[in-house]
Amino acid sequence: MDQSKIMEMTEQYVQHTYNRFPISIDRGDGVRVWDSEGKEYLDFMAGIAVYALGYHFPGYDEALKAQIDKVLHTSNLYYHEPLALAARDVVTSTGLSKVFFTNSGAEAIEGAIKSARKYAWLKDGKNDHEIIAMQGSFHGRSVGALSVTGNAHYQDPFKPLMGGVVFAEYNDLESVMALVNDRTCAIIMETIQGEGGIYPADPEFIRGIRKICDEKDILLILDEIQCGMGRSGRMWAYEEYGIEPDIVTCAKALGCGVPVGAFVLNEKTAKNSMVPGDHGTTYGGNPFVCAAVHEVFELFKKHEIVKHVERVAPYLTEKLDALKASHPDKIRERRGRGLIQGLELAPEVPVGDVTKKALAKGLLIISASGNVLRFVPPLIVTEEDIDCACAILEDCFS
Ligand SMILES: *Cc1c(COP(=O)(O)O)cnc(C)c1O
Repeated sequence: MDQSKIMEMTEQYVQHTYNRFPISIDRGDGVRVWDSEGKEYLDFMAGIAVYALGYHFPGYDEALKAQIDKVLHTSNLYYHEPLALAARDVVTSTGLSKVFFTNSGAEAIEGAIKSARKYAWLKDGKNDHEIIAMQGSFHGRSVGALSVTGNAHYQDPFKPLMGGVVFAEYNDLESVMALVNDRTCAIIMETIQGEGGIYPADPEFIRGIRKICDEKDILLILDEIQCGMGRSGRMWAYEEYGIEPDIVTCAKALGCGVPVGAFVLNEKTAKNSMVPGDHGTTYGGNPFVCAAVHEVFELFKKHEIVKHVERVAPYLTEKLDALKASHPDKIRERRGRGLIQGLELAPEVPVGDVTKKALAKGLLIISASGNVLRFVPPLIVTEEDIDCACAILEDCFS
């Protein structure tokens, strides 16, 4: 179908909740995609931090095709091998105890919230528990996930939301302490804020929160839906701080293109939370997505993807710092870790103009809140890909 026809039909039939870039993506290969007119683009957004392995990484398609030939879906009323394998992968990798697979990131957050509430309810039988969440956070669009998302613009039209949520300032331990009381059951935060503008947690902040949680038996929920799966230069961004969460959520790169998320519980939480009857999902963790998750973990190990991120990320950092140095009037700050980086632009340089210009020049790149240009490329990017992306951006800024 003709590209303009595809766009026209989409706008005719699909509810307009997205302002889409004016291209229709037809196929991908490695770190590149092609639109329906055959134009090539370097992809530095990776389906919003999904395509950790890029497109058609050797072995990935084959694993999915083999599973299609066996069985796609069974329901969660039966056992199946892909679930056993994927669950072992996730649990071993996170260092936690039990996993529940969902269809999305938002659903992983829902499960984390329910686990925390059940944990608190088992302790005192009360229904007055509170969750402390962070300003500037993003946890998803379902009502529960939206309730812990500290963004008035996203929340306001949909109130009243879930109750029992209070907001602290990210990286301000005092503001968290001021909200902690006997009813607090969980503190939820991203280890690195993504949508909010690429803000990594300060070590004293996240360690301080871990300490309060330990002292008061409050559950620490770390949302690693965007920053997890090797993107920060560690398999899980929390490893950098020498702490572990009680619950971690993941999604995006977990299946590298198939819709799958998960919430993972440590032993104490797993033993004192949801049991049969408390939670469920028809599709979640079906054989197809679990085959993808298992293959993703196998490929991460075989090709040492996290080591690659560790090697290549300093080069991206260096190039972004150079870009900032040559355009000090346009670029205010570089933030981030590994292959989740942001350039905060001056207010006179709307990030939307930059992403549009980049698109025209063959680079897919997206923004984050606060006029930030967001870099979440496939984890397999090379120094040459980074050179290519930065040359296009240099052009856009000049
Ligand atoms: C994308 C994202 C979510 C929501 O995931 P969906 O799959 O879109 O529901 C939640 N938390 C973080 C940190 C995210 O980046």
